[in-house]
Amino acid sequence: MTVRVRFAPSPTGFLHIGGARTALFNWLYARHTGGAFILRIEDTDTARNTQEAVEVILNGLRWLGLDWDEGPTTGNPQGPSKGEQGPYFQSQRGSIYGRRIEELLRKGCAYEAEGAVKFRMTREPVVIQDLIVGEVRRELTDREMADPDFVIVRSDGQPVFHLVNVIDDLEMGITHVIRGEDHLSNTAKHIALFRAFGIDPPQYAHIPLILNPDGTKMSKRDKGASLTTYGEEGYLPEAVVNYLCLLGWSPKQAQEVLPLAEVIRLFGLPQILRHNARFDAVKLQWLNGEHIRTLPFDRFLESAAKALSRAGLDLARYSQGFIRAALETCVGKIRQFSELPAYAGFYFVDELDFAAGEDRKKLGEEEKSLLVRLREEFSRLDKFDAASIETTLKEAAKSLGVKVGALVHPCRFACTGNTSGPSLYHLLEVLGKERVLQRMDRALELLR
Ligand code: GLU
Repeated sequence: MTVRVRFAPSPTGFLHIGGARTALFNWLYARHTGGAFILRIEDTDTARNTQEAVEVILNGLRWLGLDWDEGPTTGNPQGPSKGEQGPYFQSQRGSIYGRRIEELLRKGCAYEAEGAVKFRMTREPVVIQDLIVGEVRRELTDREMADPDFVIVRSDGQPVFHLVNVIDDLEMGITHVIRGEDHLSNTAKHIALFRAFGIDPPQYAHIPLILNPDGTKMSKRDKGASLTTYGEEGYLPEAVVNYLCLLGWSPKQAQEVLPLAEVIRLFGLPQILRHNARFDAVKLQWLNGEHIRTLPFDRFLESAAKALSRAGLDLARYSQGFIRAALETCVGKIRQFSELPAYAGFYFVDELDFAAGEDRKKLGEEEKSLLVRLREEFSRLDKFDAASIETTLKEAAKSLGVKVGALVHPCRFACTGNTSGPSLYHLLEVLGKERVLQRMDRALELLR
């Protein structure tokens, strides 16, 4: 049997992190088994659907690198990007639903009532063999027992979610429905519909929810709920994917930084954890730092430049050589690209702004006189590279009878406006002698 799975989001204008994880688990399962991953946009609620809302989903999946495999042969309104097929849109599948509704009516599995069409629901308990949750026996509640039948086509002619979801799953030959646990309560209805069509239901795998760190349910407004914010906040897609893999799925080994190829190799539905997963921003940040560390430099450069530009720094005014050299001093030092403007923004401004009151304290009389001496030594250097800068600074400290730090700190502060940052000797080399002397002069003058 070839595995066929699908991600079936409704376009709400928002891709929830839980939805992204559902998409990821489906994708991983398809890639692990060599099956197909289908994207199906459940857009029958025309009032809420807009092209922008669909784009949020497509862009989110593209950002994560979750490519989908097939689509209808007729054109999509959104038009697939290059190399992409699909997705399917429920709004274009009305005739398929019409035929299936006819079939249910003909078989006596559905009937018309007050302009709507209702499904004749089974009165027997439905047993769900869920691959993650285990066996779930769904009995009709007392209230349902009185009238368990439910509407499948509203009086305005719109088929409802349960019906089109099942028709598509059977038409598309879906073998495994991997979706959020919030849908477990719908599954008895879905299984009954499959049986009415005379088709074996797919295997179900309901994934536990993602909770906030405090254990409450993650809603749209909670921090971290929207996938779109991760790119904006300087996370790498591979780190988010790695984090989402570990959020509810656990490989047997303890290793946490996992290349995607390794996750694909190891992935399986039985290892999905049965309990709800708590969102852990600190772990995500750590993983992001680990992934940034191993990023090819050109990709580091690209993301770094984006983060700096987003913060309003104009990189176009600097040479490629300068930008590369500056950002090389930041490799391995940040956990999120959004830290960069504060960490390395000093490279890309003409003048640092010192806040007189606070900053004067950091550069007291003692520090200033040391800085004057260091400036003198620096001005005599012909070759202004990290090694010569280091030797000069250390010799100056020795002859002044102070610790190296007594020169390093005021110098860093004068040249970067920060008390920590990239390696001092390297950053001074990148800034260049002229800029370094200017910055030292200016700090001495401003903080007089
Ligand atoms: N459109 C439904 C949702 O977004 C799909 C549920 C399913 O995967 O079956 O929740």
